[in-house]
Amino acid sequence: MGFNSEGFNSGLDIGKSYYAATANPSPDHPALQGDVDADLVVVGGGCTGLSAALHAAERGLKVVLLEGGKIGWGASGRNGGQMIPGLRKGAKGLVKLYGPERAKVLFDLAFEARGLVLDIIERHAIDCDLRLTGHLVGAVNGSDLRDLEEEAECLATVMKFPHAEILSAAEARSKVDTPYHGAMYEPLGGHMHPLNYTLGLARAAVAVGVTIHENSVAVRLEREPSNPGFDIKGVGPGKTCRAGGRCAAQRTGAARQQSHHAGRQLHRRHRAAGRQMQCHPGQCRGIRHAFVVNYYRMSADGRLLFGGGERYTPSPPADIAGFVRPHMEATFPQLKDCRIDHAWGGLVSVTTSRLPHVGHYGEVYFAHGYSGKGVILSTLSGKLLAEAMTGDASRLDLFSTLTPMPFPGGTALRGPLYVLGMLWYAMRDRIKH
Ligand SMILES: Cc1cc2nc3c(=O)[nH]c(=O)nc-3n(C[C@H](O)[C@H](O)[C@H](O)COP(=O)(O)OP(=O)(O)OC[C@H]3O[C@@H](n4cnc5c(N)ncnc54)[C@H](O)[C@@H]3O)c2cc1C
Repeated sequence: MGFNSEGFNSGLDIGKSYYAATANPSPDHPALQGDVDADLVVVGGGCTGLSAALHAAERGLKVVLLEGGKIGWGASGRNGGQMIPGLRKGAKGLVKLYGPERAKVLFDLAFEARGLVLDIIERHAIDCDLRLTGHLVGAVNGSDLRDLEEEAECLATVMKFPHAEILSAAEARSKVDTPYHGAMYEPLGGHMHPLNYTLGLARAAVAVGVTIHENSVAVRLEREPSNPGFDIKGVGPGKTCRAGGRCAAQRTGAARQQSHHAGRQLHRRHRAAGRQMQCHPGQCRGIRHAFVVNYYRMSADGRLLFGGGERYTPSPPADIAGFVRPHMEATFPQLKDCRIDHAWGGLVSVTTSRLPHVGHYGEVYFAHGYSGKGVILSTLSGKLLAEAMTGDASRLDLFSTLTPMPFPGGTALRGPLYVLGMLWYAMRDRIKH
């Protein structure tokens, strides 16, 4: 299935990332050999899978986690590291979809992710350059600023979240040296080194008894008459994880390839978008408010980490630094021709509504589709999956009401229609005033 050590992110150069260059030492985990039994088999060693594994093991389950590449080499170890409380769909959008009361319940649950991650970092002494700097969303034109003003108003009145503050152009400029029309600033956001956080989660999971197998691709999920649960087949004969009860799958090849109902449902509801990042030595933190976001921050050692541009076709750009550079220079013209030390990319799972897709089909539990805002949400989703798999599904059920509509177009047209749609919205960014 073409799964090398970079997994589905092959060609996106995690090995050249700033994060790989500054990763904390961490143990290798042996590949799956032979058959193993577990109460729960988790597929995927990103923050969703590791959090599900950690919380399920803390609740007494015997957990085996299969990671097709290396721990954290999916989105979790290569993202912008921006800890942004809430969901990718803003407060206004949530109210429009669900009405004020339900929207607030969902917002409050999503907001828990922040406290959970801070608690895990502290409890497990995870060294991940955590900085609670706040979070700024810059408006690139007048209509963006009006959107942000309405968003701050909705956050304050409906969500009872009084922290979002609207800044004038001059106030925004005092925080970030780029000519925004104004900005929304909220002080509870922050950032971290995402690979070191993910490696820390893995260490915490192992400490409570989780067995991790790297370079162990799950390719098929089967029901065997002799097993009341599932068999999860690894590559090669005699590599089977027997899940006596449950299986937690992230957005995985296994989920996609199996003919099981769950795989088809997951595949219909998300698409992958390629995001690219780069890092150069120099002097910020923030996000440009638009359909295709630019996001940036300072690393602990004083470099600018900048992510810009999205790509909707399966192949990665041949020159990632060259792909991102124009976005960075448009935001910070003063950085024209600066040196770029690291450039890499990754895939984000996006849904039609930009809301996560979590839940279960029978005994197969899943979470994906954070739509580019999963740094902290993934840890919360993993915990909700573990709660549900150990007997309390109330909070997972609540979150699973967010279920997005499938992408239109059926098997043949879904991909092309998605690309066309995304290109249309990206073009609107360029012509919007
Ligand atoms: C470049 C980039 C920048 C981003 N920036 C931000 C940001 O600043 N803020 C924010 O909130 N979010 C951001 N995101 C999104 C965020 O990173 C993700 O939402 C989050 O990491 C998803 O975590 P996950 O554990 O669900 O998935 P992943 O971290 O992708 O983990 C899935 C894992 O499953 C493994 N796997 C897949 N298939 C199989 C299989 N068949 N068998 C075994 N293993 C398998 C993969 O190798 C992978 O390690 C960004 C994403 C990218 C790519």
